[in-house]
Amino acid sequence: MRRGLHRANGAEGKQARMNRLEMLRCVQVHRERWDIIVVGGGATGVGTAIDAASRGYDVVLFEQSDFGKGTSSRSTKLVHGGVRYLEQGNVSLVMEALKERGLLLQNAPHLVHDLGFVVPNYDWWEAPFYGIGLKLYNVLAGKYGFGTSRILSREETLERLPTIQTDGLRGGVIYFDGQFDDTRLLINMVATAFEQGATLLNYAPVTSLTKDNDGYIDGVIACDAETGEEFQARAKVVINATGAFSDGLRRQADASVKPMIAPSQGVHLVFDRSFLPGDSAMMVPHTSDGRVMFAIPWHGYTLVGTTDTPVPAATLEPVATEAEIEFILSTASLYLAKKPARADVLSVFAGIRPLVKSADIGNTAALSRDHTIHIEKSGLITIAGGKWTTYRRMAEDCVNQAAMLAQLPEKACITQGLRIHGFDGNARRFGPRYVYGSDAPAVEALMQADPRLAKPLHPALPYTGAEVIWAVRFEMARTIEDVLARRTRALFLNARAALAMSLCVAELMAGELNCGDAWKAQQVQAFEEIARHYVLS
Ligand SMILES: Cc1cc2nc3c(=O)[nH]c(=O)nc-3n(C[C@H](O)[C@H](O)[C@H](O)COP(=O)(O)OP(=O)(O)OC[C@H]3O[C@@H](n4cnc5c(N)ncnc54)[C@H](O)[C@@H]3O)c2cc1C
Repeated sequence: MRRGLHRANGAEGKQARMNRLEMLRCVQVHRERWDIIVVGGGATGVGTAIDAASRGYDVVLFEQSDFGKGTSSRSTKLVHGGVRYLEQGNVSLVMEALKERGLLLQNAPHLVHDLGFVVPNYDWWEAPFYGIGLKLYNVLAGKYGFGTSRILSREETLERLPTIQTDGLRGGVIYFDGQFDDTRLLINMVATAFEQGATLLNYAPVTSLTKDNDGYIDGVIACDAETGEEFQARAKVVINATGAFSDGLRRQADASVKPMIAPSQGVHLVFDRSFLPGDSAMMVPHTSDGRVMFAIPWHGYTLVGTTDTPVPAATLEPVATEAEIEFILSTASLYLAKKPARADVLSVFAGIRPLVKSADIGNTAALSRDHTIHIEKSGLITIAGGKWTTYRRMAEDCVNQAAMLAQLPEKACITQGLRIHGFDGNARRFGPRYVYGSDAPAVEALMQADPRLAKPLHPALPYTGAEVIWAVRFEMARTIEDVLARRTRALFLNARAALAMSLCVAELMAGELNCGDAWKAQQVQAFEEIARHYVLS
């Protein structure tokens, strides 16, 4: 039953016709055992599905909510080696991430670009200290380098960061890393996995695991969240890629397992561009909680974060605490001449790091950012930790393990050179539609065919009706939130604007999905419920 749906080769621009109902049908009629079931539709799970499918394995992925609803939509949007880990002496981790950073730029150039990060210096020792450290960062990147770091004079620092606090400013150090749009990349990765032959279903929570007579996991019971209908899927191996939720699924396999995840919350605040008007980002290497803080230009706004607060358990819609918000405002105020206040916050979002416990360490900033692959006695494979940047490498390691455990025919990983759907080396010519890469002309064609779809849905944001239609037709968007939070980034950039757009989005979606007034009203209410956590009152 493999490759039952039509899959165009989308990396070069042909359209992947992803459709949830067809995905569901494919799961329902699939009588044989899948080679691999992946649970979790974040960067790790979708990356694993790409890797497995591109090797030729028969793979299905189940996501309980929307693709990227978990941590993978809530990152700092950096494709980075992690300068901080260099300071911790973790050279191999940094080298691996720097290589993955280079591969991501190579395979998804429409979504990844390089960005200059300025470390402002207020003490005499900072320029030589960070200057030498960041030179090493360049050296470790080798042929995957993004740009050469160097020490900046006071004037050069001010040129790059015109709104920086000038009292006591001596100069700065600039280095280069990558920036991306996390959920645009994720949805293009879903399309890539699909084109490689995987079946991927959103709104399909795995509710339990099934075992054979010997006690080995041989499948899952999942549910179509839209109808409530349960179904069973059997596989040679099941991979748990549920991020911060990993322990929950592990307990399904064995109620007595010790938790391996130490969830830690990170919060970002979004401001308008006037707080950071240049093209460079600012990086503060040591905040009072021992983390780095970034202020980054992103989609015409300013993103500031993040915190690191241990939390007892993961939730799907984490909420920023008052202490976290105050911490970011006060830290940003130390470095920005224009002090950001609560009233300036356009959106606030929180995410949970799926850190893997190595020992009893109280401070989560000190926990390993390496990934871990854990195989239970029952054969359940859990892949957790790591970071967005290293998803490809995590997936490669995980599929190697899964193939060995399930005795699948040996096949080499090919993802180092595999282009991500939408690949386009010159996507900036599409203006705000650049995030669609090679799909941008098709989105623009919708705008040309119906000029009503060409108008921005809100004056503060570039998103048009065509993008709503596109998201529903080709990107498996099912709810207003899918469109406004993850297919576009309206909710993350400007929550009040997103709220103002929601009725219009409901109208457009209802037309595509053949839904009536009750659906529209329910959708708007559900979106308002979620969006209120992104608005600071
Ligand atoms: C604040 C913050 C900033 C970060 N910034 C960066 C950065 O700039 N760069 C970087 O490289 N990394 C960054 N990271 C790390 C990176 O975002 C994560 O490592 C990565 O997104 C984790 O992806 P994941 O797929 O493992 O988890 P998730 O994205 O959480 O995916 C797990 C999925 O599993 C689903 N799921 C759970 N249970 C079930 C079930 N029973 N059935 C079906 N589905 C289920 C969930 O709904 C979820 O969608 C950041 C992390 C945080 C928290």
